[in-house]
Amino acid sequence: ETDSETLEFQAEVQQLLSLMIHSVYSNREVFLRELVSNASDAIDKLRFEALQNEALFENDPELKIRVSYDPEARTVTVTDNGIGMDRDDVVENLGTIAHSGTRRFLEQLTGDQQQDAQLIGQFGVGFYSAFVVAERVEVFSRKAGVEPRYGVHWRSDGQAGYEIATVERPERGTSVVLHLPESQQEFCDGQRLRSIIRKYSDHISVPIEMPAERSGDEDEEQAPEWELVNRASALWMRPKSEISEEDYKELYKHVAHDFSEPLTWMHNHVEGRQAYVSLLYIPKHPPFDLYEQKPAHGIKLYVRRVFITEDTEHLMPRYLRFVRGVVDSDDLPLNISREMLQHNPMISSIRSASVKRVLDRLERMANNEPETYAEFWQAFGRVFKEGVAEDPGNRERIAKLLRFSSTHEEKETPDVSLDDYIARMKEGQEKIYYVTAESFNAARNSPHLEVFRRHGVEVLILPDPVDEWLVAHLSEYDGKPLASVAKGELDLDSLADEGEKEQRQEQEKAYEGLCGRLQEALGEQVSEVRVSHRLTDSPACLVVGEHDFGMGMQRLLQAAGH
Ligand code: ADP
Ligand code: MG
Repeated sequence: ETDSETLEFQAEVQQLLSLMIHSVYSNREVFLRELVSNASDAIDKLRFEALQNEALFENDPELKIRVSYDPEARTVTVTDNGIGMDRDDVVENLGTIAHSGTRRFLEQLTGDQQQDAQLIGQFGVGFYSAFVVAERVEVFSRKAGVEPRYGVHWRSDGQAGYEIATVERPERGTSVVLHLPESQQEFCDGQRLRSIIRKYSDHISVPIEMPAERSGDEDEEQAPEWELVNRASALWMRPKSEISEEDYKELYKHVAHDFSEPLTWMHNHVEGRQAYVSLLYIPKHPPFDLYEQKPAHGIKLYVRRVFITEDTEHLMPRYLRFVRGVVDSDDLPLNISREMLQHNPMISSIRSASVKRVLDRLERMANNEPETYAEFWQAFGRVFKEGVAEDPGNRERIAKLLRFSSTHEEKETPDVSLDDYIARMKEGQEKIYYVTAESFNAARNSPHLEVFRRHGVEVLILPDPVDEWLVAHLSEYDGKPLASVAKGELDLDSLADEGEKEQRQEQEKAYEGLCGRLQEALGEQVSEVRVSHRLTDSPACLVVGEHDFGMGMQRLLQAAGH
């Protein structure tokens, strides 16, 4: 060993590690799933790099993962001959957390172990889950294309830091060695490891091998014979009837880097002019970087089973950026580069078909499983709403899927659809009314609502900043214009009776003088002062002209420096 140094973990890593190790993990065995998942990713990356540079295969072209164990030494080792890591990669990948949402995630932690363990599960701690069972972890790695003398040796007890050194390593790829304490001895067992692999990693498309079980009378010194443990074929290529729910769920955890199960999935084998397979998932929980510019994960693109790239821009529009999964094309060229995805007609046709599948699924969910749909809306409604502006071609379908709070039940949980609203419209009511505000309570207490309450007219409550965008792009639904309660003239006249109309005219006359004086006093600050019939309890309120931006939009623009 040379150039040995001791380094500290990034503070976030330390925090996560101690939380993870001390939170009682009901499901310790997932450490193996995570290590196998990383090994499989590393192999995918090598296969892709080798398309351009075959020399990277060296003399070792059969890509595989091996899991071995030694009950005496109490170790479990996961080895891959994938892309490998150099010294900088190791420091970067195993000493820091690159997730852009990490800080916000850590701020959410409460100190309540059970709740935090749940959150950590969602965050997905990948490699570090090794420390749930191991008291010490060693990593040996050599990056593809690098000389054997530049191998890396990393070791840590998962406390404050790690040691890193340069070592000779003839084999390309990575070995992770777990040193188990006596209490975790159970994992040094062939049967147990096989069953964990079959349970969580059967969907992994590269071969996972373990030493064959030997009968006692063979020579102990003999090198182990390796046997295949998983099915080693791409799960998404199999017919749907041959895939279990568990397989689908485990593949999701691998491709999405998520510890929890997906909400639903769509699996399609597409034949014809363009052949491809898509397996798309809608997660249960938003990822931590949902609002970041550059999300870490997206859709994995394969060409004839070769992993090409993880795409976060071309295969899904922004408003569906939470969708995860795999697209495997038969027709794209293997040498397609990331840049070429942008203007590729095959990619855009896969994209529009995928969007359609997601919208179809959401429609069915909304109709048949309203509770599941409510879960979806809770997790992704805010992002999904962006679709009204982003995807004009699907605007009607997207609008049908929107959910709002309203004055009908005044629940903060948005569960009113535009169709629900229309079904409850009063006779003579022509518009869909909404109120925007900074919060649900502010909206609910808006003086603008008084007249609507009086007439029993329902109003949608829009408390979210993105709602201003939404209504700016959705001027009508099902032939009915959307109208802000705070803008311009009300046309509730058709709902008022004759007596009421006369009374209004009298009032307007009576207060003409007052309005004039107020107008003079306020001068430039207002465009007009007039008698309102909107209010029942409040003496006055501000309204926005019919063609002006809403108040919330004005606040957005002001905040943006306009
Ligand atoms: P994730 O897989 O979600 O990126 P992990 O914590 O599981 O997060 O892994 C962190 C990073 O360490 C990976 O993104 C990868 O760059 C690197 N890594 C882990 N295991 C391996 C491996 N076997 N071969 C190469 N790189 C690896
Ligand atoms: Mg991982």
